[in-house]
Amino acid sequence: MKEDKNSLFYGPVASRRFGYSLGIDLIPYKICSFDCIYCQLGKTTIKTLDRKKYKKIDFRNFRIELKKIINCSERIDYITFSGSGEPTLNSDIGLLIDSVKDITNIPVAVLTNGSMLNKKDTVKDVINADLVKISLDGCNENIFKKINRPCSEVTLKSILDGIILLSQNYKGRIWLEIMVLRNINDGLNAAFDFKKALLQDNKIYDKIEKIHLNTPVRPSGFQEVFTPFTESIRALKDVLGEKAQVINQISEDVFISKYHEKNEKLEERIIELAKRRPATAKEISIALGVNINEIIKCLRLLLKNDKIKYKLYRNNRYYYL
Ligand code: SF4
Repeated sequence: MKEDKNSLFYGPVASRRFGYSLGIDLIPYKICSFDCIYCQLGKTTIKTLDRKKYKKIDFRNFRIELKKIINCSERIDYITFSGSGEPTLNSDIGLLIDSVKDITNIPVAVLTNGSMLNKKDTVKDVINADLVKISLDGCNENIFKKINRPCSEVTLKSILDGIILLSQNYKGRIWLEIMVLRNINDGLNAAFDFKKALLQDNKIYDKIEKIHLNTPVRPSGFQEVFTPFTESIRALKDVLGEKAQVINQISEDVFISKYHEKNEKLEERIIELAKRRPATAKEISIALGVNINEIIKCLRLLLKNDKIKYKLYRNNRYYYL
């Protein structure tokens, strides 16, 4: 796909869970209601719960561009609202989901941190999506705050209330994703806290289809973030039961590598840039005119294959050779 800096679209990018996913990025970098300690996008610059039109969207052009991309792409398995921050902060998301549904039968997914789902207008907006994937990293209020560093009004309870509100009004699929971090939310106590939160009177557990147990791609170097030991993930999986699935990073990487064989040019461009001076993912994204989510996927493979390194400076990762 030809890059256009003003386009809302990026990809399709590959992942095992979504196959080839065409991303729609509704939020300018990096506006979010959270500032997660593991966020690969970098530090949140504007932490907010304000829902508004964050980008000027011409709906006619949006449809034309989407049709063009679908016609030119070999394969798109999902159209995914995600991006450079929390997508449900954009109050146009409902109209855009409906526009996508008017054009194609490709399933629509919304990847959210769940902070806005206790608001009726947000639930109404995502109601026509086929899948809503919600991050749920906190097993209790303290751990939630420690990992996700949310806007002060957001609590674990408000997130759980939001999942219940969604499940009462929504016919699509709901997945949860837990980013499991060593010594924070990976112990047996945490596992039982998660189970309690999901089973409490409201029975969230019955309404969700899957719980993905994810781990940070690499120990991020942030003081607090380390990959958990396999046994503690297994324990979490056992406690959470059959809906819990461990995301296997190796097969994820194999899947992404195949996709990137077609995309070697982007790797070369990143390496050329990093040769000249250390740069953050955001700086690379701006310099190459490629969406930051695509850059992050590529950086992940470059790191894995030891083709690039990073160092931390003021909580930002700088990539270099
Ligand atoms: S919710 Fe997502 S985008 Fe926001 S800080 Fe956390 S990981 Fe980053």
